[in-house]
Amino acid sequence: MIDKEMFSGILKENEIRFSEPMKDHTTFRTGGPADCFITPGSMDALISAVDICKREEIPFLVIGKGSNLLVGDKGIRGVVIKIDAPLDKTAISREGGKITVDAMAGISMMKLASYLMVEGIGGFEFASGIPGTMGGGLYMNAGAYGGELKDVVVSATCITADGDIKERTKEELDLSYRHSSLMENGDIVLSVKIELFEKDREDIKALMDDLKERRREKQPIEYPSAGSTFKRPEGYFAGKLIADSGLKGASVGGACVSEKHAGFIINKGDATSADIKALIEHVTDKVLRDTGVRLVPEVRFTGEF
Ligand SMILES: Cc1cc2nc3c(=O)[nH]c(=O)nc-3n(C[C@H](O)[C@H](O)[C@H](O)COP(=O)(O)OP(=O)(O)OC[C@H]3O[C@@H](n4cnc5c(N)ncnc54)[C@H](O)[C@@H]3O)c2cc1C
Repeated sequence: MIDKEMFSGILKENEIRFSEPMKDHTTFRTGGPADCFITPGSMDALISAVDICKREEIPFLVIGKGSNLLVGDKGIRGVVIKIDAPLDKTAISREGGKITVDAMAGISMMKLASYLMVEGIGGFEFASGIPGTMGGGLYMNAGAYGGELKDVVVSATCITADGDIKERTKEELDLSYRHSSLMENGDIVLSVKIELFEKDREDIKALMDDLKERRREKQPIEYPSAGSTFKRPEGYFAGKLIADSGLKGASVGGACVSEKHAGFIINKGDATSADIKALIEHVTDKVLRDTGVRLVPEVRFTGEF
């Protein structure tokens, strides 16, 4: 049984909610209620909250901006811990030409990219249009337009499954295409250290503007989605395979394969997570039948469907 008392002295009144609709915390705008939903206001509060969940053997899930999550319509049992602002501070250290940025897990990658532009720090432009946090970004090894976090990450401070606070090296993080060791070991990211370089502000801005325009042209950013629904199969593009299977515009309930970019499943307004899941399965089956290629979702499924 989860109650407010468990977190007393750790969370403020407005940092704990019950039966919180997850559709308010996912970019798909779907998902049922989380039994308990907390937003720790400091690193100490976060560490203590995780410790309590472990000690009391309450299942918990850490999320960032919910931009890669499909949460079941029946919601999430246990505690959802959202790491977002105010856990979004950064520290910059400059030594010679080398610049190290230590970013808390809750900072949005978009906000960090804008901040680094103002500071004249280059190398992070690729992430300027990815609507997740640094924690979620590291978990997914997020990337776009030829860059990925793997290119810039030095290390990350994490809570391990044993409850220890440990600095994980880049090697330990085992980053590869949309994969990190966090997917296997359950580490929780507190902060991420990245190495970047000095760059002219105008050049950073020009690159970020270009990437933004390319996204606006190609992606259905006007609709709720979780970005690319599927991982890129080796040697193919998921969007092209889906389009070639005649699935552009295919729909289940309010879920629809985008006409603009078939790699995106969008919520046309009243989709449920069950609609989105059914459409993902339909697309996977049809593409497998037509081409022999098995698409694997990039989107993470969680909660009860
Ligand atoms: C319009 C749109 C465009 C997108 N474009 C891109 C793109 O170009 N490239 C790309 O890679 N992705 C893209 N995405 C997907 C998404 O933004 C990324 O996967 C992002 O990294 C997810 O971050 P998040 O904070 O939202 O994580 P969430 O969706 O909240 O969580 C994702 C996973 O990370 C885990 N997690 C979150 N925070 C932590 C933490 N602190 N410690 C441990 N685990 C954690 C969660 O448990 C979950 O399993 C896009 C999404 C949208 C909606």
